[in-house]
Amino acid sequence: MTYLDAAATTPVRREVIEAMWPYLTTEFGNPSSVHAVGESAAVALEDARRRIARSLEVRATGVVFTAGGTEADNLALKGLALANPRGRHIIVSAIEHEAVLQSAAYLVRFHGFQVSVAPVDASGRVDPEEISALLRPDSTLVSVMHANNEVGTVQPVREIAERAHAVGALVHSDAVQTTGQLDVRLGELGVDALTLSGHKLGAPKGTGALVLRGRLDLEPLVHGGGQERGRRSGTESVAGAVALATALELAEDERASGGSDVVSRDGFVAAVLATTPDGRLTGHSSLRLPRNASFVFPGLSGEAILLELERRGVVSSSGSACAAGRTEASHVLLAMGFAEDIARSAVRFTWGHGTTTSDLAAVADDVSRSVEAVRSIRS
Ligand code: PLP
Repeated sequence: MTYLDAAATTPVRREVIEAMWPYLTTEFGNPSSVHAVGESAAVALEDARRRIARSLEVRATGVVFTAGGTEADNLALKGLALANPRGRHIIVSAIEHEAVLQSAAYLVRFHGFQVSVAPVDASGRVDPEEISALLRPDSTLVSVMHANNEVGTVQPVREIAERAHAVGALVHSDAVQTTGQLDVRLGELGVDALTLSGHKLGAPKGTGALVLRGRLDLEPLVHGGGQERGRRSGTESVAGAVALATALELAEDERASGGSDVVSRDGFVAAVLATTPDGRLTGHSSLRLPRNASFVFPGLSGEAILLELERRGVVSSSGSACAAGRTEASHVLLAMGFAEDIARSAVRFTWGHGTTTSDLAAVADDVSRSVEAVRSIRS
């Protein structure tokens, strides 16, 4: 089986399991306990926090552990918007993950916010000029993802952040898909807050963090014992924090020593387009995740192609996993201007650090055969 759905999730890496193991067994303490068993858990938790902070070049106090990317996005949108009442206006892009879009909708429904949705072009890019046009004196927060989970397009986050900061708005970016593939240091991106999720990186599901640069007020969403400096109550998952720190460091080390990802991606895209006459790449041709190749095959069903691929041992996706099972066309492709029937022909291939160029070359053949098989059923 060739697993090409790493944007949905990845297996937990052996090194990560080994690093977590003590905190699930011998060092099982509650980091808030005052005895020695708790103390050693607290030391491990703070060490994990420092390692993440070091990788992203922020202060350790800026790392707020959450139970994954969805929670971190919720905390960013609601927590920053509610605690920094410069005004009740926020800006999000049209292709954000539902965790951001639904959090924005909640702020409108229950807290009287107004939300402006920044459009994207046909390649899925937000034009920083559009952000400038939407910014108002009462804009509190701008949230634009670092790269899109479906089509892989990388956003000009730095330029967007400069414009937002010029009027005093805060900037959040969802880096769930870019962590380990692109430079996600907050200073480089110019953002105030960044969302991380562990399970896209070889840590377990349910691990993640909201990472803040500088001292920012954050209204908590989860109230209770005041853990995480009052910003996220609940006994921390020490093993989860250690897993996230370990997976992030491994991914960053590999990113620093890597470089062949883009070559493999472009070779795979070229091979698929050469052998599937109507196939079209979605997303930007070069400003895209190094490990994402997504296509539409007009006239065909993306779901049918997926089934054919799976019969041939290739696991991929028709869009985001969170939208799977639902029949609606992807909001990302619709925002990029695709007609609904074409959006339903989408197939996304995403891979992890272990996938080789020859794996991808073999899959390109399977794609062409699968597309041909679906086409022949239709005609
Ligand atoms: N943001 C993006 C861009 C994602 O792709 C995902 C997951 O697919 C999430 C947020 C949610 O992260 P989690 O699955 O950790 O809740």
